[in-house]
Amino acid sequence: MARVGWIGLGNMGVPMSKNLIKAGHEVTVWNRTKAKAQPVLDAGAQWADSPKEIAEKCEFIFTMVADGPALQDVTLREDGVVAGLSAGKIVIDMSTVAPEESEKVNDAVEAKGCKFLRAPVTGSTVLAENATLGILASGDKATYEKALPLFQAMGKNQFYLGAGEQARVMKLALNIMIGTSMQMMAEAVVLAEKAGLDVVQACEVIAGSAVGSPLVNYKVAPISKGQYDPAFSVKLMEKDFDLAFAAAKQYGVSMPVTAVTRQFLAAAHASGKGDRDFSVLVQLLEEMCGVER
Ligand code: NAP
Repeated sequence: MARVGWIGLGNMGVPMSKNLIKAGHEVTVWNRTKAKAQPVLDAGAQWADSPKEIAEKCEFIFTMVADGPALQDVTLREDGVVAGLSAGKIVIDMSTVAPEESEKVNDAVEAKGCKFLRAPVTGSTVLAENATLGILASGDKATYEKALPLFQAMGKNQFYLGAGEQARVMKLALNIMIGTSMQMMAEAVVLAEKAGLDVVQACEVIAGSAVGSPLVNYKVAPISKGQYDPAFSVKLMEKDFDLAFAAAKQYGVSMPVTAVTRQFLAAAHASGKGDRDFSVLVQLLEEMCGVER
């Protein structure tokens, strides 16, 4: 069993780190807001007073934080992960961040004689709880193989995508599909509602149809009930779209459908829904079209 450090205990970090504890690993955690660590401490984790202390104590150091600036903060600050590293340790970031942000952290970790894996995940909080996430990894292959048992404790599907930043780009490619799918679902649901169909039944039909993807199936129950508690917030989806646009510019790719959906995410954020689940795109369009539940 490994000595594992975990930094970042938000909606995803809590269930993911709990699965490492369940698999028998010795887990030490740090989170900016200590109160959010309580469920993981109750499950048997130890607390560290800084990311640096985590790096000093553990052989594998995971980060699962909001975005690139947060990743750079927890790794590169004075009492950050890099300051506590000694040669041979493995740092694994599972957040969704830009390739350039990731590369900067990689360079700092490698300068300490350590390895850095990029391992963003696909799947939301329910899959995190059930340990059925998809894990998209890139970095040194031998290091990936050492980390594989830990990935298997958190996810059902693991993909090794290359020696560099490939996992970062693949994750962004997936998320634009997830976001645009939700905008399509919003348009279909609101059309049905406005024509007088029952929203619950409309959702059932969509879920059972050829477009009834796993994503649609996770979301039909909350959408039917008009519940938008955040599994993945509008703000985080906006971040991922913006990172995808930067990558599209770099590689010369046109993404018109993604661009339109980005405007709906901006409207959701601007109308006070930034911290709601991104499926609140349905409610936004209902409001724009005068649908009252
Ligand atoms: P979340 O619930 O918003 O949690 C964000 C975490 O980052 C919290 O632990 C927060 O600490 C920490 N954080 C934010 N800014 C920080 C800073 N400057 N310094 C230190 N810590 C900071 O986010 P999440 O939903 O768990 O998502 C985490 C990552 O996974 C994101 O990159 C997201 O895009 C990605 N992701 C999410 C999902 C999903 O469905 N939720 C699915 C796949 C991938 P505090 O507790 O102190 O605020």
